[in-house]
Amino acid sequence: MYNGYTVIDAHAHIFPDKIAEKATEGISQFYDLPMSHEGRMGELLQSGDRAGMDGYLVCSTATHPAQAGAINAFIGEICTQYPQCIGFAALHPESEMLEEEFKAILKQPFKGIKLHPDFQSFNMDDPKVYPMYEMIQASGLPILMHMGDPHRCFSTPTRMAKVLKDFPRLRVIAAHLGGYRRWEEAAEMLRPSDRLRLDTSSCLGFMTPEDAVRFIRRHGAENCFFGVDFPMWDHTEELERFFALGLTDAENRGILAENLIEWIHSK
Ligand SMILES: [Zn+2]
Repeated sequence: MYNGYTVIDAHAHIFPDKIAEKATEGISQFYDLPMSHEGRMGELLQSGDRAGMDGYLVCSTATHPAQAGAINAFIGEICTQYPQCIGFAALHPESEMLEEEFKAILKQPFKGIKLHPDFQSFNMDDPKVYPMYEMIQASGLPILMHMGDPHRCFSTPTRMAKVLKDFPRLRVIAAHLGGYRRWEEAAEMLRPSDRLRLDTSSCLGFMTPEDAVRFIRRHGAENCFFGVDFPMWDHTEELERFFALGLTDAENRGILAENLIEWIHSK
């Protein structure tokens, strides 16, 4: 609990201890941003416990097709060990074993799939990746989709709008309020509904509180999940940024935990 609220981080990256430093260094260079932590599970719990976090949606991106299996073994193991974790599995659209890997995911208690078009170098609406969406849509599992980049166009809100149109039952959490540094485009192109939600991770430090409130209410506070994008940011600092928005008590309760809990268990 933080300030009397149950809080779930809807966007946390974790890495096995021995590769955490290298993985985080790569992300730091990609975004030209310093990282608060290195992404070990122990650190997640430290940063989270300090803030009074109640749970985490944990994931990791497969930057090469060969990585998905090892990542999913790791995330699966963490979720067995730490019941406060909601695991999202990795997939890489270029894997030759995509179907087998997806079948293996379905046998484990994963609650969704994490994709990152910019790290995985695919255009989100490329017909080449449509068979993958087909498979995911049929399963009912949601995708936590990285959204937006100021320099690259792999993951624009406009591409997401096309994917949602082409896959009318696909469930998506559009990260970073629908498009990191493409917030106006996201507000214009994305219409949250039963199957589309957004997270607030890696947004609040880049905009005024007034803009954050405007975007959250434009998408509907009931459609937004609080996310930290650990290890990029620290839980306590991100919660301070969140409470500086001055949202209503009901909006806070929903965004910090209730919206995610309700949505993740509905199909
Ligand atoms: Zn992410």
